[in-house]
Amino acid sequence: MKVIIIGGATAGMTTASKLKRNLKDKVEIVAYQNLSYPSLGRCGIPYYIGKNFDEANIMIARTVEKFSEEGITVHTNYEITDVDFPNKTVKGINLMTKEPIEDHYDKLVIAVGGSLDKLNLPGNDAHNIYAPATLEAAVKIREELTDKIKTVVVVGGGPIGLEFCENFARNDKRVVLIEEQDQVLKDLVDPEIAEAVQMELERKSVELKLNTKVKKLHVKNKMINQIELATGELLDVDLVICALGFTPNTQFLADSEISMNPQGSIVVNDQLETNIPDVYAVGDCVLAKNIIDGSLMQIPSSTISIKQGKVLANVLTGKDDYFQGAMGTMILQIFDLEIARTGFTEEYAKKMSYLYDTITVSTKDHTAYVKGAKPVTIKVVYDTKEQIILGAQILGYHRAAMRINVFIPLIWSKTKISDVKHLDLPYSPPFSRPMDAVTIILNKLNAELE
Ligand SMILES: Cc1cc2nc3c(=O)[nH]c(=O)nc-3n(C[C@H](O)[C@H](O)[C@H](O)COP(=O)(O)OP(=O)(O)OC[C@H]3O[C@@H](n4cnc5c(N)ncnc54)[C@H](O)[C@@H]3O)c2cc1C
Repeated sequence: MKVIIIGGATAGMTTASKLKRNLKDKVEIVAYQNLSYPSLGRCGIPYYIGKNFDEANIMIARTVEKFSEEGITVHTNYEITDVDFPNKTVKGINLMTKEPIEDHYDKLVIAVGGSLDKLNLPGNDAHNIYAPATLEAAVKIREELTDKIKTVVVVGGGPIGLEFCENFARNDKRVVLIEEQDQVLKDLVDPEIAEAVQMELERKSVELKLNTKVKKLHVKNKMINQIELATGELLDVDLVICALGFTPNTQFLADSEISMNPQGSIVVNDQLETNIPDVYAVGDCVLAKNIIDGSLMQIPSSTISIKQGKVLANVLTGKDDYFQGAMGTMILQIFDLEIARTGFTEEYAKKMSYLYDTITVSTKDHTAYVKGAKPVTIKVVYDTKEQIILGAQILGYHRAAMRINVFIPLIWSKTKISDVKHLDLPYSPPFSRPMDAVTIILNKLNAELE
């Protein structure tokens, strides 16, 4: 069996490695990747730019040579531009020689991920504006991050935008964050949780411009020197980072018969099959099923990409495996503050007309007599009819955010709240309190429902 993979990063190369381990010589695997390296861990980019580490290449999880040793061929600098599905043929171009190429598959895996969107305004091709998702962009920004760069404007207050804000601020840049919504982390956390994050950003001198958007880019000599906001405010700027959103790299399939949503995300079933026989898709370019309500979501996530890759490898091996779904779990550190979330927010539960209520608990993360206890806040959204937890959001310090790992399996398995009234959680003074925030919230939930 010959398997061709389009896109040689997290989802594609996880599929390749596991499939090769499963089938050994019974499978030939060829991946086409339009960059000069495979397997970039893009999550490291804000931290590399922020000088947390110096060697950019360590973000490459595995090299072409390493894959070759495993018996997997990765053609870097090859872009696939078309797929002839009836004839099981991919067509593309060698980006170095400009020569066209063609290759035939028995099974095709589309793992092309997505790109960060740039501002759709004149001037978005200036030299000092980036939507950084490649190694080259990360290296270039870091090289340019000299003393001449005084002000960085980050457009987009989602998790990636916030990570960039922190990393530029830690490097003594003036950072201005522009977010067109009324809060950061919109749709990920509720307003009062966002408020705490905003306070932390402001405490660290990140200037927030909420409820406004970029109206115009003022460009001189191919460099943006001012940004004009919808409010009319003019901001001087040396570097612009776009973390606005994300578009799947599926434009080359737009005229094909493959089933996609209007945003270009590929529709797959639980076995990662598309609507076309022998064609599968994994990672950021597909829609994932929300395990709580079955809705389809676009959730760019490394961990989901890896899980889907492993499932697909098993499916291609002939094993009875399937991808169960996801629920939008996220963890994030902004300066010292940690934020974690999973499942429904209150806003989503309300929008979807659930019979829900919420409980929020704020306490200290460990015993007062051990130095350094810090606040921890947990908000839980629960279904008052089914008596199950629908979502959780956590704010805290010292790895307090990892408490989200208690809520994930409870929500995932739709465990009744009364079944976890006395959950046997650990206690020792440096870690927690005899009544940890999680225990308090489970007690309160049970009291409310009794
Ligand atoms: C700055 C940043 C920070 C992030 N931080 C986190 C984080 O903290 N946690 C987390 O879970 N996720 C994070 N993510 C998201 C994470 O990187 C993605 O979810 C993950 O990379 C998805 O893997 P993928 O293989 O589906 O797609 P990608 O990593 O996008 O890989 C797809 C590959 O296919 C190539 N390609 C595209 N089209 C073609 C074509 N036509 N022909 C050949 N090759 C093609 C692309 O160049 C790319 O290399 C972050 C992303 C960014 C950009």
